[in-house]
Amino acid sequence: MHKFKYLLAGFCFLSFSAVFSQENGSEEPEQGHSNTNKFRQMYEEFSTPNMYRTASGAPGPAYYQQQADYKMDIELNDESQKITGKETITYTNNSPDKLEFLWVQLDQNVRAKDSKAPLRNGGGVPPAEETANFANKYYKAPFDGGFNIQSVKDTKGRNLPHTINQTMMRIDIPKPLEPGEKYSFNIEWWYNVNNHTIDRARSGYELFPDGNKNYVIAQFYPRMAVYNDVEGWQNHQFWGSGEFALPFGNFEVNITVPADHILDGTGVLQNPKEVLTDEMLKRYEKAKTSYKKPVFIVTEDEARENEKGHATDKKTWRLKAENVRDFAFTTSRKYIWEMQAVKTSENKTVMAVSIYPKEGNPLWEEYSTKAVVQTLKTYSHHTFAYPYPKAISVHAKNQGMEYPMICWNYGRPNEDGTYSDRTKFGMISVIIHEVGHNYFPMIVNSDERQWGWMDEGINTFCQYLTEQEFAKSHPEAVGPDGKYPSRRGEPSKIVDYMKGDQNFIAPIMSNPENVFQLGANAYAKPATALNILRETVMGHDLFDYAFQTYAQRWMFKHPTPEDFFRTMEDASAVDLDWFWREWFYTTDHVDIGVEGVKKYYVSSTPNARVKEILEERGMAESDLPDLVYLVAEDSDDYKNEVSKRSEEDNFKSLNEYLMDNFTPTERAKMEKPKYFYEVSFNKPGGIPMPLIVEYTYKDGTKKDITYPVEIWRKNDKEVKIVEATNKEITSIVVDPKAETADVDTSNNSWPEQKGESDFDKFKEKVQN
Ligand SMILES: [Zn+2]
Repeated sequence: MHKFKYLLAGFCFLSFSAVFSQENGSEEPEQGHSNTNKFRQMYEEFSTPNMYRTASGAPGPAYYQQQADYKMDIELNDESQKITGKETITYTNNSPDKLEFLWVQLDQNVRAKDSKAPLRNGGGVPPAEETANFANKYYKAPFDGGFNIQSVKDTKGRNLPHTINQTMMRIDIPKPLEPGEKYSFNIEWWYNVNNHTIDRARSGYELFPDGNKNYVIAQFYPRMAVYNDVEGWQNHQFWGSGEFALPFGNFEVNITVPADHILDGTGVLQNPKEVLTDEMLKRYEKAKTSYKKPVFIVTEDEARENEKGHATDKKTWRLKAENVRDFAFTTSRKYIWEMQAVKTSENKTVMAVSIYPKEGNPLWEEYSTKAVVQTLKTYSHHTFAYPYPKAISVHAKNQGMEYPMICWNYGRPNEDGTYSDRTKFGMISVIIHEVGHNYFPMIVNSDERQWGWMDEGINTFCQYLTEQEFAKSHPEAVGPDGKYPSRRGEPSKIVDYMKGDQNFIAPIMSNPENVFQLGANAYAKPATALNILRETVMGHDLFDYAFQTYAQRWMFKHPTPEDFFRTMEDASAVDLDWFWREWFYTTDHVDIGVEGVKKYYVSSTPNARVKEILEERGMAESDLPDLVYLVAEDSDDYKNEVSKRSEEDNFKSLNEYLMDNFTPTERAKMEKPKYFYEVSFNKPGGIPMPLIVEYTYKDGTKKDITYPVEIWRKNDKEVKIVEATNKEITSIVVDPKAETADVDTSNNSWPEQKGESDFDKFKEKVQN
């Protein structure tokens, strides 16, 4: 080959490539625009990595967290439903900053008479309202809730100046707390406990017809706010929707209640011999090695007997907890109490505990402890072995609320003991969910006040995994299909929300106070997004390793959203910026369709379009390098020339190339496709997703191809793919297994599936 010709060929080829690629773009010269590419990295959205939090998503070399230790004496007056307490808080400043004052949270003040929380919602008259809500809003006598702070003193008994702003109290310490210093102070208080079945609160009591009460008590003490490198003091008010942000610490809590109460809470019971009978103590010890089934510390018969009494003397239960972010307890004379031992790793045994009144049976004795055990096993497998000594599931009407080692759960049978599947699976699911919260946010301690999804979304995702495992280990509990009826997690379940009215959808990355449909926003959508990430985008191995890395990096620490997003990439080498941006920072949805198919044939002579270009440029056919041409079946080129030529002629240049460059053995192994299809896919939805395609051929065989999400990186609206095959394609389906939460499947098939329109269905219904 002459050197000159070689150079020319190179030149021609380059200029032809440029012309062809231009033809794929728009004809009008575009105005300049800023970088809106959905695959650009998230430098604008993410905070800059620093010494506290690294670019990999791990805690940095200067990472710190504050510590708050509590010693408390609490007394419950069952007659007046009043809690009185005094506490010593020891606060350790591990930050490099000097603190001029301390912020303490007074969450009960959300129920104070002067609380602004009930006045914060506009919206006017709704078409209908739940009777309880309605009565609560317009007919309820004002409840005298909120903390009554009796004193705030230093350890020498001197009053500390303090200012209460709604649910936050600033304590002005005598001199700034220097880095590394500790400061201890005392608070005394009391408050009226609310009836949570009327109030829909996260703690309180339920009143039974016989006058007995079950108390599920939390937010009962002034609690330290979080101070960290991200928010400074997290003193955003408690309005009711955004939950809590709390530092870790050690607790010693003595709780005095009527002597005939059964009490359990966060931490390890320090004085079992003082509060349990000899018989109970024997059972309590026996439970510690009972791995197969629970041991009843208090049986239903005993509980029925207990609830008839009315002790006037008192007992003090002493509990001690290490490295927890909060403390809660439950107490009543109505309680049945059962415990079972669970191995969460080879050498770690913890206790699965259930506490419920007889009103919870027969459902609770059947399923509560089983659900606790399953949760500890599945979550430990996906994150880390459960580090606390126990996990308690308490039955409280209408409640689903979590605290370290203890949670409140709904699910009550009818009075005759019957129950629906809805009640049963609702109860198992809520127990899995609330026990699961021990991991997120009690141990992986994210800021709930700011980011609802970091605990609710991640936890709902793990709940989904646990429900599937529960169905496998308890086939008798589920239907003949062996599947657990999970309410959230499957992609199809989030479609209605994501295609809904954009005026009532907020991005996941929003403060929980500011979103619409909190359940879909903070629970269902992030859970589904993570499920899709695991099943479709990353695959189990990469996802599970990265997810476990996140949990282990941030166990007993305070992660931010970026720490999660970054770790998932860091441990997997999957670029996920596009995924976080679209699923977490926007309200876009998924909608991908197949637009059409064009069939092409090979030709070895220039087609009409190439001839045109040659003329435009004043070039001759002899200037062209070796080229293969594809001509569309419906073009004149095909009809007038290619279809009339022999196959040998059409494949001439291609065959020559193959003959010159490959051995006969190599050529024999080659596929020799005859048909070339240009398939056009469009994307009306904003979210780019891997393009999952099922091709069906004339002989009935199928082929699945998943094109990586990056296929959308240069054109967010439409892509064209060339599929070369020896068999004619008869149909194409996008996302055949409904993995991507595609909101409109009417455009997912070629040839178009003529489904019944909504109008047709409506017409039929009217006529029938
Ligand atoms: Zn939750």
